[in-house]
Amino acid sequence: MTAVYPGSFDPITYGHLNIIERASKICDRLVIGVLENVNKTPMFTTEERIGMIRKVTEGLSNVEIKSFEGFSVDFAVENNAEVIVRGLRGETDFAYELQLSQINRALKPEVDTVFFSTDISYSIISSSGAKEIAMHGGDISKFVPPVVADRLIEKFKNQQEIKK
Ligand code: ADP
Repeated sequence: MTAVYPGSFDPITYGHLNIIERASKICDRLVIGVLENVNKTPMFTTEERIGMIRKVTEGLSNVEIKSFEGFSVDFAVENNAEVIVRGLRGETDFAYELQLSQINRALKPEVDTVFFSTDISYSIISSSGAKEIAMHGGDISKFVPPVVADRLIEKFKNQQEIKK
């Protein structure tokens, strides 16, 4: 079974990584889809986001990483995937993800969404939280892998230098 895991991954966190590791165990092939945000301006470019995901998923042989635009269901079909993987942290994610999965089913009934509930230790982890903490010089070591933490710290340093 092939599955896709679409998202912004701006940047990838330990929460995303946990879902990737678990999903890659139960499917033959997992294609991570990095959304080229047309409306939202991401902090990291698509290439940077893909580069970080590649580094932290190096040990997972059945994981591929691609960028995509548009609907997740179309990305799934293009990759011959029957399943879209998404992660759930709590009720807020659930409300949003339920609706999204129903819209996706209406668009392409042949593709189903499978949810992974996050491990308790990752339930408060988000890309936006990691960026917020990094911006204020806080410790992000529990949020993101070291390579990502370095990139975040570097990004904010550069932004501060531009402001000077
Ligand atoms: P999107 O903009 O598509 O929501 P994200 O990168 O924020 O992209 O999230 C991609 C997917 O990963 C979503 O299903 C989201 O709920 C899930 N996710 C994000 N953070 C976590 C986490 N800490 N634990 C489990 N799932 C998560």
